[in-house]
Amino acid sequence: MRDRELTRLLGWPGYRVYRHEIDERAKTLKLWIRRKRGNRQLVCSGCGRKLEDAHDFSEREVRDLPCMEFRTTVVVELYRVCCPDCGIRIEKVPQLPSKAPFSKRFEDAVGQACESAAARQVALRFGLASSTVRAIDLRYLERWVAARRTPGLTQMGVDEIHLGKKQKFITVVSNLDTGEPVWFGRERKKESLDEFFRTELSAGQRKRIAAACVDMWEPYRLSIEQWAPNCRIIYDKFHVMQHANQAIDEVRRAEFFRKGGPMRGLVKGKRWLLLSRWTNLSAGKRQELNRIFALNRRVFKAYLLKESLDRLWTYHYEGAMLNYLQRWIDQLRWQRLAPFQKLALLLLDHLDGILNYCRTKVPLGVVEAINGNIKSLLRRGRGYKNLRYLLLKAQRMAATRTEFMVFRKAA
Ligand SMILES: [Zn+2]
Repeated sequence: MRDRELTRLLGWPGYRVYRHEIDERAKTLKLWIRRKRGNRQLVCSGCGRKLEDAHDFSEREVRDLPCMEFRTTVVVELYRVCCPDCGIRIEKVPQLPSKAPFSKRFEDAVGQACESAAARQVALRFGLASSTVRAIDLRYLERWVAARRTPGLTQMGVDEIHLGKKQKFITVVSNLDTGEPVWFGRERKKESLDEFFRTELSAGQRKRIAAACVDMWEPYRLSIEQWAPNCRIIYDKFHVMQHANQAIDEVRRAEFFRKGGPMRGLVKGKRWLLLSRWTNLSAGKRQELNRIFALNRRVFKAYLLKESLDRLWTYHYEGAMLNYLQRWIDQLRWQRLAPFQKLALLLLDHLDGILNYCRTKVPLGVVEAINGNIKSLLRRGRGYKNLRYLLLKAQRMAATRTEFMVFRKAA
């Protein structure tokens, strides 16, 4: 094949192939390329200034997309410019976005593959190290986020996610309108959220925040009250139900585990059964749950309490919601279920924020969905030491999902 045809196959705008090597046994193709005759304008990589003269040139080898079954590398002739502002700098080439030995479109292909597969699998497919794949993916996501407009924040979610024994908690701030996480911070202190308000938003942006869905967690409330004066705090269903799930788990442990012996074996691994909603269970699972209930009335009662609390959010009028909650708390009497009594006190302490659900409309289930996305990323990726990477990953996940939905609707 001649170089001119290879130039057409390569398709780097402004560049032509002047030499090539094909190794049929190793299945590799190597192309040497340089600027086409008409493409003489150089761009400073420091400031973007256009320059005419080259200072000197060098060669750089990058891996590009494969050609048929041939692994392709491209050796690019690269110039340095003498910029009046930046001094001697390498020229800017769109296909070479970083110092890494890969072309932009190769990195894009790796990044796209990482959207639906774990880094390990992508690494195998492309013949790269996992760490290299993650570094490429991170650059791909950084380029994506730099090119897009950040949506305004009027309704926010604040959530905590447990990362593991070492890192413990991170604080997740999300945008409820777009369903995207916006910021991750270490730990879950007041200072964690303070940092978000201080570093990410202007005073004007902070004033525009109208509502926040948060957990009944004092440090977050204090931070929001300090920084976002117009923000109404809502203790939403997802967060309240998390506490209800904790309560039922405590009852389960008290009733079965501490008694030891054969009772212990019966409920081992049944935690999620008790945390699941009845309507979401199959007939077999319902039977399993019924067997546990037959053994222990108190666990049964706790389960009913959890299930009925869920219905609190079917009310849209403050009075009705309050009424229902009052009746729910009345049921606790004589039950001697300490974890639920504790929960009732917690709810009464945060009553105003719970009733805010009736006063401000916030999209339901968004915080939960974002939380779920991040957890599935954590499960799949095994250890995100780099929080920035985890954030970009979760953002991309949310954004591509909405893009997909828009596409489906249009079709
Ligand atoms: Zn410059």
